[in-house]
Amino acid sequence: MKYLGAHVSAAGGPEQAVLRAVEIGADAFALFTKNQRQWHAKPLTDEAIEAFRAACREHGFGPGQILPHDSYLINLGHPEAAGLEKSRAAFLDEFQRCEQLGLTLLNFHPGCHLKKISERECLARIADSINHVLAETRDVTAVIENTAGQGTNLGWRFEHLAEIIHQVDDKSRVGVCIDTCHAFAAGYDLRTPQACTATLDEFDAVVGFEYLRGMHLNDAKSEFASRVDRHHSLGRGNIGWDAFTTLMRDPRIDDIPLVLETIEPALWAEEIAWLRAQQLDAAE
Ligand SMILES: [Zn+2]
Ligand SMILES: [Zn+2]
Repeated sequence: MKYLGAHVSAAGGPEQAVLRAVEIGADAFALFTKNQRQWHAKPLTDEAIEAFRAACREHGFGPGQILPHDSYLINLGHPEAAGLEKSRAAFLDEFQRCEQLGLTLLNFHPGCHLKKISERECLARIADSINHVLAETRDVTAVIENTAGQGTNLGWRFEHLAEIIHQVDDKSRVGVCIDTCHAFAAGYDLRTPQACTATLDEFDAVVGFEYLRGMHLNDAKSEFASRVDRHHSLGRGNIGWDAFTTLMRDPRIDDIPLVLETIEPALWAEEIAWLRAQQLDAAE
C-alpha cells in the first residue's frame, strides 16, 4: 500500500490539516504542529488535540500515515552549547506535541556544523540530541531527513544518515525520510528508471529500507549534484516523471507516508492521482 499526500497547512488548528488532506484525495499528509519559523509556540489546547484526533479517526488517518515536520530553526548538531541547548529543548517540545496528538513519527533535518566543528563531531552531536529526546519520550520515532547539502547541512550523503543511526541507542525509534529533490541535488541520480533503482539499491546497502519511515516526493528546480535545495512540481523539474513512476512501483517503498512538498498546492490533487495511477498501471 502506498500512502500518498502533501505537506498541508495547519492554519486554523491541526485538525484543519486533516481536512485539507481529504480535499486533495490524500491518504497521507505532513504538517507543522507549530509555526515552523518561531522558537516558541503556545501549548496545544485539549480542544485542539481532541479535534485533531477526531478528524483523523473520522477520515481514516492512522499515525503511520502522518509525517509531522519540525521547525526549521532547530539545529541538533549546533557547534555551540547555547544553540545546542535551545535546539534540544525545542526538539523535545516538538516530540511532546506529537505525542499529545497521537502521532508516532517526527521528521527533521539533521543539522549543520556552521564551519565551527568537524563533520564527524557534528554527526555525533546530532545522534546525541536524538538520544536525549528519545530518553525523555516514549511513542515517537525520530525520522532523519536527507538534505541537499546546502550550506553546512549534513545528512546529504546516505553515509551521514547511517552514521547517525549507528550512534543512536534505541534503533527501534530512529528512521529516515528520503526527499527526492534533496537526494538529486546531493548527487544521487534519479533521472531514469535504472538510475532511480540504483540509487534505491545504494540507499538499501548504506542505510537499509528497514529504516525508511517516509519520503518526500519532489521534483527539483536545482541541478543534479548542485547541493541547492529548490523543489519543483512533479515532471516539471530536472528529475522528471520516470523517477516517480519507478518509486511508485518499487515494493520496498510500501506502508509509509509519501508526501509532496511541490511548489504548486493547486496541483497536489492531480499529482496524487497521477502517482496512484502509476501504481495501478503496474498491477495490470
Ligand atoms: Zn523534504
Ligand atoms: Zn527541500
